Amino acid sequence: MSELIQSPMMDMSRSLSGQVVTTKFDKILGWARKYSLFQYPFVTACCGMEYMATACSHYDIDRFGAAFARFSPRQADVIWVVGTISHKIAPVLKTIYDQTADPKWVVSFGACASCGGPYDNYATVQGIDTIIPVDVYIAGCPPRPEAVLDGLLKLQDLIQNQKHDW
Ligand code: SF4
Repeated sequence: MSELIQSPMMDMSRSLSGQVVTTKFDKILGWARKYSLFQYPFVTACCGMEYMATACSHYDIDRFGAAFARFSPRQADVIWVVGTISHKIAPVLKTIYDQTADPKWVVSFGACASCGGPYDNYATVQGIDTIIPVDVYIAGCPPRPEAVLDGLLKLQDLIQNQKHDW
């Protein structure tokens, strides 16, 4: 009777069967980053109420891995610009953006942040993308919490599919 000779590699592949997944390191980084977002809420006006509503238990933004609000740009990944941005406060927003560590993303929350909203006047910035780069725009005056969550999911898609430096 012939004896079956098994190599150590065959043993290993059998014992790891169903337990190992191969992927690109870039994809793993995207997956990890999109579900561990620390947010910096740059809140200036009434849209802030909807930001808080989305963060609280009824809409529970924590479900999407975006739980922690951080008020230091050095601990944040995402800057949520929530509300009207005046020309007076614009340099502060630019400084916060510059101080935020890479990789970083920006969400423009509501009409005022995205295009000045109802304030087409000398005092109001007509869109924060004239000051800093924006990754996701959320429409509305104010946006409903569902729209905020939709914006977060779009940001997560963007993070998953972008190239990550490491
Ligand atoms: S978009 Fe509307 S709700 Fe939001 S800050 Fe501007 S005026 Fe207020």
